[in-house]
Amino acid sequence: MSGFIKMSNTLRCSVCSNSKRRFKSLAALNQHIRAKHPDIPPVQRDTFYTTPEWIHVRYKVLLRDKGQCQCCGATAKTGSRLKVDHIKPRRFYPELALDMNNLQTLCTMCTRGKGNWNETNWCEKLDMWHLISLRERGLIN
Ligand SMILES: [Zn+2]
Ligand SMILES: [Zn+2]
Repeated sequence: MSGFIKMSNTLRCSVCSNSKRRFKSLAALNQHIRAKHPDIPPVQRDTFYTTPEWIHVRYKVLLRDKGQCQCCGATAKTGSRLKVDHIKPRRFYPELALDMNNLQTLCTMCTRGKGNWNETNWCEKLDMWHLISLRERGLIN
């Protein structure tokens, strides 16, 4: 238990709980920890997305979803970047991190509309501008 959280690309020291200070890099945060909280171990980089287990499951999910965004149907062929997304965020449900039932293929636009706070499966709520742009690109009717 390190007691530190990484949110999007900002790092904060959760020991200094009322501090709004953000750290630009892991090195900067660890420097702060060494100086202020020498009894706490340094923060490890998140290596989950480079583990063989994740790479294997990710590939299986892409195959299952036929390489299509499960929200809008976009594919790599139509110029979309696809991500395998955790329906229930890994941060809150680490035990579901490699559970295929908790994984879905989404394009980056749909992922952006979702975020960690939203556990909606298959993106029920699409941004209007996104729908319009998909329609213009002929991806949906
Ligand atoms: Zn601190
Ligand atoms: Zn999509």
